[in-house]
Amino acid sequence: MLAAVRLARERDLPIAIRGGGHAVAGHAMCDDGLVIDLSHMTGVRVDPMAGTVRAQGGCLWRHVDHESQAFGLAVTGGIVTHTGIGGLTLGGGIGHLMRRFGLTIDNLLSCDLITADGEFLVASADEHPELFWALRGGGGNFGIVTSFNYRLHPLGPTNARRPAGVADE
Ligand SMILES: Cc1cc2nc3c(=O)[nH]c(=O)nc-3n(C[C@H](O)[C@H](O)[C@H](O)COP(=O)(O)OP(=O)(O)OC[C@H]3O[C@@H](n4cnc5c(N)ncnc54)[C@H](O)[C@@H]3O)c2cc1C
Repeated sequence: MLAAVRLARERDLPIAIRGGGHAVAGHAMCDDGLVIDLSHMTGVRVDPMAGTVRAQGGCLWRHVDHESQAFGLAVTGGIVTHTGIGGLTLGGGIGHLMRRFGLTIDNLLSCDLITADGEFLVASADEHPELFWALRGGGGNFGIVTSFNYRLHPLGPTNARRPAGVADE
């Protein structure tokens, strides 16, 4: 990813970041530039003792829910499972659990980020707090978030059966 950012800088190309690809405005794409597609970055690691989950920037909510629910834990995510965590979190994040656990960004503890300068840094309440403030609802364009670290809450595990004829997402 750093190499991609450096290449774009060397060639003076605009960069677009594709997370889950769900934004209907098409902000994950650009003309005559470089699209950095995170869709293969779907690693998720739950720390059940700490009550946190670290998810790579290309995850969809189903990736996060699948791993978190294995421990009976959850964080507010999208209403449908195929929305990307990237754009949703950076935009604030509303979902079924928000009345109980707050918005997605209320549960965001830190982000690993690559800046437009090609620098890797961590943004949290303690490290680069102003950047962290911007990431919590300010949308894309503050850098490439390679992983999001969220606080989890006890919930479930749910094992709801779908009505007959409704396909799995
Ligand atoms: C069917 C549908 C259902 C939805 N449901 C909800 C919902 O329940 N709750 C809700 O809050 N929103 C919802 N949304 C809105 C959704 O959160 C936004 O469209 C969001 O931008 C999608 O994120 P994405 O990563 O899938 O999109 P993308 O199109 O990949 O990206 C959207 C923007 O975020 C940036 N971005 C994505 N990932 C990263 C990253 N890792 N680092 C830096 N920038 C990144 C992109 O560059 C782009 O600017 C829904 C949208 C759709 C189409």
